[in-house]
Amino acid sequence: MTGKARVFVLGSTGSIGRNTIAVIDHLRHSGDAEFEIVGLAANSSVRELSEQAEQLGVGHVAIANLDAAENYRGPGRIYAGPSGAAELIRNNARPGDTVVAAVVGAAGIEAVIAGIECGCRIALANKETLVAAGCLVMPMAASAGVEILPVDSEHSAIFQCLHGEERLESVERIVLTASGGPFRGRSRDEMATASLEDALAHPTWSMGPKISIDSATLANKALEVIEAHWLFGLPAEQIDAIIHPQSFIHGMVEFVDGSILAQAGPPDMRTPIQLALTWPNRAVAPGQRMSWTELRELTFEQVDHDAFPMIRLAWEAIRDGGTAGAVFNAANEAAVEAFRARRLSFGGIFEAVQAACAACPPVPVVDLESILNADASARAVVQSGVNADGNLSWIS
Ligand code: MG
Repeated sequence: MTGKARVFVLGSTGSIGRNTIAVIDHLRHSGDAEFEIVGLAANSSVRELSEQAEQLGVGHVAIANLDAAENYRGPGRIYAGPSGAAELIRNNARPGDTVVAAVVGAAGIEAVIAGIECGCRIALANKETLVAAGCLVMPMAASAGVEILPVDSEHSAIFQCLHGEERLESVERIVLTASGGPFRGRSRDEMATASLEDALAHPTWSMGPKISIDSATLANKALEVIEAHWLFGLPAEQIDAIIHPQSFIHGMVEFVDGSILAQAGPPDMRTPIQLALTWPNRAVAPGQRMSWTELRELTFEQVDHDAFPMIRLAWEAIRDGGTAGAVFNAANEAAVEAFRARRLSFGGIFEAVQAACAACPPVPVVDLESILNADASARAVVQSGVNADGNLSWIS
């Protein structure tokens, strides 16, 4: 490669975005690889965005929230509004650029599609894109000859374990590990009234609020099961999850001959971010190394699907196909939003998602419009608080 590799960081003020900027800075200092960040996108954190743009000398920024965009005082051309990130890409991306897609939620879909259309390599941290729109995005990427490199640690693990494996028939199943979150071992009743603060206290990973709450409900693992379905082309029956509280093994592939390959390492998001940027090469990373002298045990537990029903709903969504993934994702996003606004109990998140999945039967996906419609219907069910019985049961 000649010159610097150009990168767009979408969701630059979030946990993955900040870490991406740190990784790129580290790679530059270590002399391993030169990346130039040419565009940044954020939702509403304009102060941090302007600092980033200033520091990195970025010429283009996107700000999803229109009110926030008015207060932006940093450098660069501004693309404002919900489609701003997609416009930023369409107007500035060149084939071979990298788009780090780290916007949270279904809001990130359009920009990923724009990146694919521009021939960009996608470093995907926005799992909701594949959960809701995998049936559009994956064929699009394949026909454009665009690589989608997972940033999610579990999928980065599976991706690495499958590398060089040409035949999917050789795979018996893949297993995603889950830390179990802060409520591991609790029954449904015991966590029904858990507080927002408790739900945000993740034991092993430091992450943004949406994904922290998703880790507490195991919706994060459920979304990752659907994400894995689209990334690796496997049916629901061949995708499993297991609780592994140490978060040392990130994912495993079990082959038909009984062999299991696992990818492991200290839990540090910079590792999969860096790999997605440098792949197929590896570069020295600054993170902590495994301390083999301190390692005592690696433990595994079965997921309690009665207490945490989200993964079952994910398997169902894969089997149902069509808009089922979009409905599951949107219902969960709306429920988490209501929980963060203290309008919904922790236990109500499960109820709301289950009710929305039941109320919005899947229809075939024709285009992005079908996905956005399903997304809106699911959100409406959760927001109205009307469950299958017509009771206002979960939002006060
Ligand atoms: Mg993950």
